[in-house]
Amino acid sequence: MAERKLANFLTEIIDADLAAGTHDGRVVTRFPPEPNGYLHIGHAKSICLNFSLAQQYGGDCHLRFDDTNPTTEDAEFVASIKADVRWLGFAWSGEVRFASDYFDQMLAWAEELIAKGLAYVDFSSVEELRAMRGSVGEPGVASSFRSVKPSDNLAAFKKMRQGDYDEGECVLRAKIDLASANILMRDPLLYRIRKQAHHRAGDSHCVYPMYDYAHCLEDAIEGVTHSICTLEFQNNRALYDWVIDNTSVPFRPRQFEFARLRLPYTVMSKRMLLQLVQEGHVNGWDDPRMPTLAGLRRRGVPAAAIRAFCAMIGVAKANSLVDLGKLDFALRTTLNTEAPRVLAVLDPLKVRLRNITTAQTLDAPLWPHDLPGDETRPLRIGAELFIERSDFAEEPPKGWRRLAPGTEVRLRHAWVIRCDEVIKDAAGEVVELVCSVDLATLGAPPVGRSVRGAIHWVDAASALPATVHLIERLFNAELPGSTQGVDFVDELNPGSLQVIKGALVEPYAAAAAPGSRLQFERSGYYYRDPEEPGLVFNRIVTLRDSWAKQDEAPKPRKARQEALMQPVSPAPLVPDELEQQVAALVGRGLSAADAVRLCRDPAEGARWEAAVAAGADPAAAAKLLLNDLRALSKDLPDPTPLSGVQIGEFLALVDTGRLARPDATTLLRALLGRGGSVAAVAAELGVLDRDDGLELQALIDDLLAQHPDEVARFRGGEERLFGFLMGAAMRAAHGRADAKALQGALRARLG
Ligand code: ATP
Ligand code: MG
Repeated sequence: MAERKLANFLTEIIDADLAAGTHDGRVVTRFPPEPNGYLHIGHAKSICLNFSLAQQYGGDCHLRFDDTNPTTEDAEFVASIKADVRWLGFAWSGEVRFASDYFDQMLAWAEELIAKGLAYVDFSSVEELRAMRGSVGEPGVASSFRSVKPSDNLAAFKKMRQGDYDEGECVLRAKIDLASANILMRDPLLYRIRKQAHHRAGDSHCVYPMYDYAHCLEDAIEGVTHSICTLEFQNNRALYDWVIDNTSVPFRPRQFEFARLRLPYTVMSKRMLLQLVQEGHVNGWDDPRMPTLAGLRRRGVPAAAIRAFCAMIGVAKANSLVDLGKLDFALRTTLNTEAPRVLAVLDPLKVRLRNITTAQTLDAPLWPHDLPGDETRPLRIGAELFIERSDFAEEPPKGWRRLAPGTEVRLRHAWVIRCDEVIKDAAGEVVELVCSVDLATLGAPPVGRSVRGAIHWVDAASALPATVHLIERLFNAELPGSTQGVDFVDELNPGSLQVIKGALVEPYAAAAAPGSRLQFERSGYYYRDPEEPGLVFNRIVTLRDSWAKQDEAPKPRKARQEALMQPVSPAPLVPDELEQQVAALVGRGLSAADAVRLCRDPAEGARWEAAVAAGADPAAAAKLLLNDLRALSKDLPDPTPLSGVQIGEFLALVDTGRLARPDATTLLRALLGRGGSVAAVAAELGVLDRDDGLELQALIDDLLAQHPDEVARFRGGEERLFGFLMGAAMRAAHGRADAKALQGALRARLG
């Protein structure tokens, strides 16, 4: 998924600053975590934003630990946060920074405030302080310490720093405005006493600055030009500016707020995450169900998908709950081009192929045809297989495209089979299917009938057992912890981790290195968990959008068209209105990229629908429209677009195998040039049934002559050499030959 330039209200602010020459054209941002927990996906939004802005403007982004509270902070968290930021793909400018390194400078500025009569030491108790603050309707009340003169305050603050007072005995407060409508401005606390060792500063300090006092000064010391934080800090901005205005800081930073990321069915408060870990509700911070970056990584989520997700949701000033479907969409789109396709069966049902006597090794592509990869792997198929139990129905519902007694289905990469017999155990449970194979259907359509379904399978003799972890949402409640009187841990989803012990995977998947990502065809994207002993795959995401409301009535056509015509703003990757549409098209077999393109172009979308209505395969029609026809049209001055019917006819003709690949291009070009019936134009051009087959035969003759040893060994039973010969043939054809045709011809010749 391409990472696009940011364009949001922050880039508008920065552009204006740059145009006005503010900060001499510099842009400095920072990511300022408090090291009191692991980072979660909400932090990722802030990380992506701060680092991407710096990148985009050639500026700097600092990683600064806001370690001003010794009670909750820990070096373990510092290490994990650094690792997570790096993993997300970002590099901070210069050394890692720590707020604790600025403690002495902050104290000097506190003394400056005291000396100016703008801060005082207050010995009131916590309860008194709270009572004196007032409320929304009532102004605050002055404490008796408010009028103490600066020299006495300086002396008291010195004693406070030396440890002469106990925790809670006194605080340093700013002297601002007790009547302010903004309660934060009613003489807020600047320092409090904490007699606890700090993870870096040790025991050198016993007074610690409050967030509102410290953060702006940290930004000022580092020359941060745009200090970006979440919306809850909007009211704190007045205090941020007050501190900057009243201390002799060398630089004036400014704070901007954006909406924090909220996701349903999970929690992102560090307190709650910590509780989940400490009470053992999950298996640590990196439990694959956790929204932490460590957990997402362990589940198998690639960093690129998180970056894509953050780009897609954009940055706004209004808080809203982000649909989980968006994260899944970013995952599918990223993994589509990254994860080879393999076969795995999670709930195996035995199948015996009655007319197969010897095993064969097929040369099966690891990538679908709409992706550039052309690697293959050997795939053994013998007389005994396992299919997914859910792909068989004894009494199939209407429209069933999988296996049922007496019906046919294609085995992915292999033949069409028919279920002849259902074997049950004493309890009446189906334990085995006996099927017969139509041997003529390897790489060829069945003759005289159409078989619409294809299912995945594994070969019983070569498949390996694996454990599969199906990861569901962690909570049942949409907003855990938001119901009065209900503890959020009681809202955990007891089925959030489903462990499947008896899955079977093909040898290629079993050999995948720990940490690899694979697509188990028709099931989902999986990650070989590198931390688990043995063969354990975590499901990263399913292939279909399980969050979409399946039963929602389709929008009327006109409204939908209008929604599609809305201008596309640059910030979100896929605008909301389109997402449902895209998900629906992906569900019909299109790659996400093609689905997005069709949805964005209503005219093209309509032609595609017409082509599918005329019988074209959805994915093939999309590829033709979006790639081949677009490319060819560029060369023509005034191309005539192909109608849906023409596309359907054309693809049907290609399926018959009567049209060689270069001739197909010639035919398309002719159709784009002048229109007309596909069959008539093809006949007129004389491109059908040309002796391309002869060329193919000549190529195979040469090949067999060049590799007599391999041919002999293959014929002697070394099936895996088919892959070698096929590769050599493809190279000899310089990519001009249709792989399927070549494979069929080669098989036929080798006998
Ligand atoms: P807490 O749970 O204690 O409130 P926090 O989220 O404030 O933790 P910090 O370590 O202070 O944790 O956060 C570092 C940065 O990440 C801050 O700038 C904060 O605004 C940002 N951030 C935290 N949560 C989110 C979120 N859900 N969405 C966007 N940004 C976030
Ligand atoms: Mg915070």
